[in-house]
Amino acid sequence: MKLSRRDLLRLAAGSAAGLVFTPVPWKILDDSAIWTQNWPGIPEPSAGETTFKTSACTLCGAGCGLRARCVSRIPVRLTGDEAHPLGRGYVCAAGLAAHHLAHHPLRVRGPLKRSTRRGVVESSTVSLDEAIAVVNRKSGPESTVGILDRRPGRSLSALYRRWLGSLQHGVYLTSPPTEHGTLKALQGLIEGHPDLGYDFEHSRMIVSFGTPLFDGWGSPGRMTRLVGTDRAMTPVIVQIEPRYSRTAMLASSWIPIVPGTELILALSLLDVLRQEHLAKREDLENAIKLLSPDGLAANMLAVQQYSPGRASRITGIPGDSIVSLARSMAVNRPAVVLGGGDAGAGPMNKATQKALAALNIAFGSVGTPGGIALKRSDVTAVASSSAAADTCLTDLPDRSLDLLILDASEDGCVIPWPIVERKLRDDQAMVVSFSPFLSGLARHADIIIPSPAPLESLEEIPMPFDASRSGLALSTPLMTPPEGTTDAALVIQQLSLGTGGGFNGPSASGMIRSRMEELFRLRRGTIETPKQVSPLKDLPSVDEVFTLLSAGGVWLDDPVGERVSYIADRSRTVNVFAGGVAASFEEETRSPNEIALLPFGVKALSGTGQVSPILSKVFQESRVRPLEPTALVNPSTCDALGLHAGDAVRITTDRGSAIAALHTDATIIPGAVYVPVGPDPEAINQANPSAVPLLTLCVDPSGTWGTTTATLEKA
Ligand code: SF4
Repeated sequence: MKLSRRDLLRLAAGSAAGLVFTPVPWKILDDSAIWTQNWPGIPEPSAGETTFKTSACTLCGAGCGLRARCVSRIPVRLTGDEAHPLGRGYVCAAGLAAHHLAHHPLRVRGPLKRSTRRGVVESSTVSLDEAIAVVNRKSGPESTVGILDRRPGRSLSALYRRWLGSLQHGVYLTSPPTEHGTLKALQGLIEGHPDLGYDFEHSRMIVSFGTPLFDGWGSPGRMTRLVGTDRAMTPVIVQIEPRYSRTAMLASSWIPIVPGTELILALSLLDVLRQEHLAKREDLENAIKLLSPDGLAANMLAVQQYSPGRASRITGIPGDSIVSLARSMAVNRPAVVLGGGDAGAGPMNKATQKALAALNIAFGSVGTPGGIALKRSDVTAVASSSAAADTCLTDLPDRSLDLLILDASEDGCVIPWPIVERKLRDDQAMVVSFSPFLSGLARHADIIIPSPAPLESLEEIPMPFDASRSGLALSTPLMTPPEGTTDAALVIQQLSLGTGGGFNGPSASGMIRSRMEELFRLRRGTIETPKQVSPLKDLPSVDEVFTLLSAGGVWLDDPVGERVSYIADRSRTVNVFAGGVAASFEEETRSPNEIALLPFGVKALSGTGQVSPILSKVFQESRVRPLEPTALVNPSTCDALGLHAGDAVRITTDRGSAIAALHTDATIIPGAVYVPVGPDPEAINQANPSAVPLLTLCVDPSGTWGTTTATLEKA
């Protein structure tokens, strides 16, 4: 049977529904139900009144709106809220089971102190005062203290930054830019470094360098609608990726590429623009002069080294395809170019992201409708406080931190523990986690002071990074947190008493109320609710603002219409031509069994957070998604290496070795091996404690992770 693109669109649009109607997961759920009958954590709602509540998911930054069916005020079923401006009915597999997490077996129900003795981790319960006293002893004036905040832009984030700003050595840390790398690179090139987003709804073409646009990336509800059959204008979507992924299936066309050669292709596209005068001269010059600190003339010459003919030999893409892609982008403007892997793949390297940012500049897409949108920066106290500036975790020098605090929030993407560990000064450095679960990065913490679980407290949802306007939504609590959980804001206030800051103030929910007051005074933007769009200036009181946002409304700030000017200062740190990149690819000599190792994963399921045990059972038994430890390769790669499907194979990199089960997949480019990452095997009770996580093999000496060279052999 031949599948058309429309069929695939239907398939994607119906995936959530499919999960509901196909008997396979339900058979497994049936098994799960039997399995869980003896599980002490299972909620047992008493027969009682059925009610419906609105909230929003906080398991990643997308903030999808939820509708909860509650019995006796306990949520028993979550669905996507069709009317919520965030998600518009979409909810992923992790979000569907978000209400299970409050009952998770790995739930931490009070402060814990952990230590390792003879290789065995021991946990003991401590009082909150004792836990805070231990942390206070580590936050003296000479100590470097960092907080890793995976969902910046909340009132709690502002408190973190204020406290860190009051310390002699405080660092506010954010996640590596796995999903938003292109915007981050572009932001560094624009005067004033404004917030940026994508105006996909008005784009005519989207060129994605491996971004999983239709597999959980950004705001998945928005992306699903983008290619929905009800849209009058669907952009041309080109997916450039070494495997025929779900996004490649839904794109207008798929261009397979040799892994790790995306930078060469981007530079070659710039060369075609130059040769064929396909871009405005001013835009092209702006783009090319930012590529290195050597200036326009030198960079123009350097770009000429990336002719389509030469790029073809390196990337595996025919030269005429490179030329026709550049021509197509010139015709289909506004066009957007973006890159970056999925939640498990890690951030794309900075040189490639800068070249993709330059392509957007060359095509005149920045600040143009249908291109890259400029967003108003947050003007509430969240942003304006005298606070520590943000630093990306991977940019922090190694061996810097004496005390690292891990906020409980998640962005849905993976951070391998070795990336965090290398930032700790020595064995005496302390890690504190506010996670409600003993999983992911929290497993490595010395002290755990648990926060409420998802859907147990009022939380802010800043607009997702890909949105074209700034804004704010709320996630209202559906459950009451158990005794023993602690508001992180109150912990920071107590710590600040010990460090001389003295930030006495309200709880996290009190801070959110204060932010509502600031919004009300701002009198800017609109609040979109399922029923109406209300200009904020027309609302009579702050209570009305709070009521509308609590009922599933979203505050959207006014759009910005400024001209942009480009700067070169930040860009000096990244020279895309450094080391003769094309030559280094051509000269690369690999031994016969060396192969490109690529991790991949799904947002919110591969991340460092928690998944419902029932969901993880569905995953393990349905094979809806491949699980660790699996290695996926092209059959021709198997033949070349003398391997067969079903073999146990050893994957080896500079970081060590791991064993995986070999599966063949004809849609993967030869010479590559894909390994799925997550869900966290220890968190789903499937761990072999001695096994090396496959992701650990992908960590490279530069302090980041992603595609790496490996050997593959029969175990
Ligand atoms: S995990 Fe993320 S994508 Fe999934 S429902 Fe929650 S907010 Fe939406």
